[in-house]
Amino acid sequence: MNFTRRALATTALALMIAAPALAQDAGLVGIAMPTKSSARWISDGSNMVEQFKAAGYDTDLQYAEDDIPNQLAQIENMITKGVNVLVIAAIDGTTLSNALANAHAAGIKVVAYDRLIRDSGDVDYYATFDNFKVGVQQATTLVDGLKARFPDQKPWNVELFGGSPDDNNAYFFYNGAMSVLQPMIDAGDIVIPSGQMGMDKVGTLRWDGSVAQSRMDNLLSANYTDKQIQGVLSPYDGLSIGIISSLKGVGYGSGDMAMPIVTGQDAEIPSVKAILRGDQYSTIFKDTRELARVTVGMVNALMTGSEPEINDTTTYDNGVKVVPSYLLEPVPVTEANWEEVLVGSGYYTKDQIETQSN
Ligand code: BGC
Repeated sequence: MNFTRRALATTALALMIAAPALAQDAGLVGIAMPTKSSARWISDGSNMVEQFKAAGYDTDLQYAEDDIPNQLAQIENMITKGVNVLVIAAIDGTTLSNALANAHAAGIKVVAYDRLIRDSGDVDYYATFDNFKVGVQQATTLVDGLKARFPDQKPWNVELFGGSPDDNNAYFFYNGAMSVLQPMIDAGDIVIPSGQMGMDKVGTLRWDGSVAQSRMDNLLSANYTDKQIQGVLSPYDGLSIGIISSLKGVGYGSGDMAMPIVTGQDAEIPSVKAILRGDQYSTIFKDTRELARVTVGMVNALMTGSEPEINDTTTYDNGVKVVPSYLLEPVPVTEANWEEVLVGSGYYTKDQIETQSN
């Protein structure tokens, strides 16, 4: 073989060795997402597909439209198809035990994505944000807003909303928020005129904005005929939209009825626009590109026999085991920093916020 032919043969061999990563055959990853009704989960899904593809994986991405049996069937189907790893953002964190036992029996690893899967020993890792801190940040922005908009109206009248009681995160958000609010309630700085407190009273099944809207309607008509409300703790932008429309429906935001401080989560575009209009006060930005990056890293480590990166081994007890976790940092967003945080990070363009209609 002359030099050139030998060099060509060596190059061909090198290409063959490198080929697996290019040919998308590093493995098949099943990605089960809860719903397309919220933009954040659409971004989660597409960010993961993009990043898994770049790392050489094939993906099977499914959305279950918040229907529990539908999500279970999708996961069972992925197991039958022979995925190597399951990445699951559960609708109801307690209903997957049998399916996951089957997955583990077939050698399939399981990563809980954003939401902890409860009551199962077959969850290998958990990638999420610091969910308690999300609640702390929500309540902190609520209090900041109350001080800024209603400096002379203490005690402030506030109502509380929680997330879906079948989502483990909802309790972390609520408890984080109450770690800030309860001392202020005890001190008499905040009053909850309805008296409705605790996740059993304030939870919102399936994070449904219309459920939050009707609960807000009821709270207003039962408790606020002789007084005004100054603040609403809302754990998610989709609920905030319903809450804001209820408030506006009875006249808040016009005349002598100042718009109450309403919080949120996920920095969804309609809510960032609501912040710019002054209807919503704050939201919490959770960079789904980062969550995808952490998850792809975990899966890649599992597939190549190395240790996934984790930074928490104590917080997320799912009822059977403490699931090793990686927690990312959430970032509070208000009118003061939306551009720096959301546009500066390249998550949105300025145009998307300023010109896209709701
Ligand atoms: C997520 C939140 C989201 C909520 C509703 C929670 O599990 O952590 O980011 O707002 O579900 O989709």
